[in-house]
Amino acid sequence: MSNAFRPSRPVKYRAVTRQNVKRTREWTLIPRDLRKAIEIVSLVLPFRTNEYVMRDLIDWSNLPDDPIFQLTFPQRGMLEPESYDRIAGLMRGGAPKDEMDAAVSGIRLGLNPHPAGQMTHNVPTLDGRPLKGVQHKYDQTVLFFPSRGQTCHAYCTFCFRWPQFVGMDDMTFAGKEIGPLVEYLKRNPQISDVIFTGGDPMIMRTQVFREYVEPLLTSGLDSLRTIRIGTKAIGYWPQRFVSDADADDLLRTFERIIRARKNVAIMGHFSHPVELSTPVAREAIRRIRSTGANVYMQSPVIRHVNDSSDTWAKLWRRGVKLGCIPYYMFVERNTGARNYFEVPLARVWKIFQGAYQQVSGVGRTVRGPSMSAFPGKVHILGITEIDRRPAFMLEYLQCRDGRLARTPFFAKFDPEITWFNDLEPLRESDRPFFLEPDSETNPNVDSLAS
Ligand SMILES: *Cc1c(COP(=O)(O)O)cnc(C)c1O
Ligand code: SF4
Repeated sequence: MSNAFRPSRPVKYRAVTRQNVKRTREWTLIPRDLRKAIEIVSLVLPFRTNEYVMRDLIDWSNLPDDPIFQLTFPQRGMLEPESYDRIAGLMRGGAPKDEMDAAVSGIRLGLNPHPAGQMTHNVPTLDGRPLKGVQHKYDQTVLFFPSRGQTCHAYCTFCFRWPQFVGMDDMTFAGKEIGPLVEYLKRNPQISDVIFTGGDPMIMRTQVFREYVEPLLTSGLDSLRTIRIGTKAIGYWPQRFVSDADADDLLRTFERIIRARKNVAIMGHFSHPVELSTPVAREAIRRIRSTGANVYMQSPVIRHVNDSSDTWAKLWRRGVKLGCIPYYMFVERNTGARNYFEVPLARVWKIFQGAYQQVSGVGRTVRGPSMSAFPGKVHILGITEIDRRPAFMLEYLQCRDGRLARTPFFAKFDPEITWFNDLEPLRESDRPFFLEPDSETNPNVDSLAS
């Protein structure tokens, strides 16, 4: 295409972290108190951004409110005041390393590092042995965590994978080889989708990605229909698809998957419309779509970043115009710096409704707000009244007990509640929907589903 965007020269990816941020020219544009907060909070929670995010997405005249600054730079409010003061005090006093380390890990452990039974409940087995780097929670879909895809081009401040970025999680849990997954897929033909996730699997070099993909195409897995890639690279490093040395090879790999008669779905994580505003991001989407792959859009609602209907409407409109498909709006998970980022369910639902009403039918493919909770993806359908009591109307879009999907149920309304765990059944008949982590075989469910 003659009018396609071409960068004047390939730009090399360079991470900006706690170690080198002070050498960037933007550092001096950050007011002193915000700089101090970055230094303190980044000792506890992971911090990583890059020059593209800093130069092309952040408006430095709009600090601290700029949404991408909030999304990638640590903020004072992310720690409880006591924790913040504790670390600040230790830093000021030049505390010895082991004292600082102990304080840091104490604070991290208080931040609910493992929500929704991630590590313990969804790991499948093959001949009695746990399958590394795979989670199988919903019948048709498995998540695959390739060992080389467990970092990102920048870290979102709210990210629920923060424990792995600070080395709290032992990443031997990630998949080094694809062989056991192929075998598992052969034995479980109900699985139609493999989702490459991370971190961000698009951090892998194309050659590495290709080594993971090829066995999925050449092992006679007729039941595998869709290869999905969960990625934020279009937002944080679109050069991955445009000008990186192996960008073209990556697109050829997508084409190769499609020639092997599988669908390629790029599950793009987009937090804010500014991520779709740069010529290179638009070119990334155009190039991905030119291979026959589809680009879907999903993200949580995050206070200080995208907690307004207009922001979401703009994001979906911009995405649709570029050929993306709005898919999920999530509720921010109950981990990490949630006190700073969370939005009450009642408000998230209002944000969703207000945005939905502003887009046409092709943007209304989006579903939400949805909570990825222990039992499944809980869809907030609305706020209503049952027997003259205010109630949340809910349903499962996905459930570890597949028979519960798409049956409405109700919870007591409370305008402050921010997560599924705090909801209570409205009536006795709603109780079976509140699956508990320790009672996976819930006898009530059987009666309900039959
Ligand atoms: C969201 C999610 C999926 C994918 O669900 P879809 O509704 O098919 O997009 C798969 N596994 C887990 C654990 C998930 O949270
Ligand atoms: S891109 Fe995704 S995995 Fe990476 S930090 Fe952001 S939310 Fe977390």
